[in-house]
Amino acid sequence: MQLAGFDSRVAFVTGGARGIGRCIAETLRDLGARVAAGDLKAPEIDGVLGVELDVTDEASVDAAFSRVERELHPVDLLVLNAGIFRIEPLEETTLESWQQTIDVNLTGAFLCAKRGLPAMRERGYGRLVAIGSSAGKTGGAKSVAAYGASKAGVMTLAKAIASEYAASGVTSNALAPALIDTEMIASMPDLRDKVPVGRLGTPQDVADVVAFLCSEHAGYITGEVVDVNGGFLID
Ligand code: NDP
Repeated sequence: MQLAGFDSRVAFVTGGARGIGRCIAETLRDLGARVAAGDLKAPEIDGVLGVELDVTDEASVDAAFSRVERELHPVDLLVLNAGIFRIEPLEETTLESWQQTIDVNLTGAFLCAKRGLPAMRERGYGRLVAIGSSAGKTGGAKSVAAYGASKAGVMTLAKAIASEYAASGVTSNALAPALIDTEMIASMPDLRDKVPVGRLGTPQDVADVVAFLCSEHAGYITGEVVDVNGGFLID
């Protein structure tokens, strides 16, 4: 099946400079969407509008969305992907570090959703996909209290948006990936033995699910959290 629903749609991917976000931006571009990718340093990706974006800064979020609206069109497909990951034992987690993780992973998603949703509601169509984590369900195998709490929050945020916007033609879903082979987990020991399918996930494994949820085929799916974890967590 060729996924449909991307022609004339505008997508905005946060944290799009590398890793999973970059792959999502390239995948949505290849499906025919007009795509913008936002990151602390504007991403450079062929055929994608690179936008400077700090998701923790409301003025930066507003400026980035305004630029996408000016140069492309209001955002139809919003992928909340920007995130940071720190392994820190709870007792060594400073308040500053806790707040930084919550700011990027949760408050950043809230600010981008808040800025992007009104245009979707007004036009009666939208797709929001938030990148959560299996750590948001389990608390994580390592010392990642702030990360786990932030990811639980962003998955719940996606559900709250789903119920508030269901009647407006806007779907909102989250993914709960685990062990995707990017720089984010490069410092961890090789964990592929822990994955039942016998390999780490790829950014494309995640991007393909995002693409489906952003397509016109997924209009009856909202408020869902989709595991992308090779059987690492079966719940
Ligand atoms: P990466 O670290 O490779 O990419 C994260 C991106 O987010 C980077 O480009 C980073 O920019 C950007 N970013 C960080 N802070 C901000 C900010 N304040 N504003 C805008 N952009 C920002 O990670 P992944 O690609 O692996 O992760 C993508 C998402 O998937 C994250 O939300 C992560 O938590 C989630 N995830 C990843 C898993 C994995 O195994 N890899 C598993 C489960 C979830 P910069 O490079 O400038 O720091």
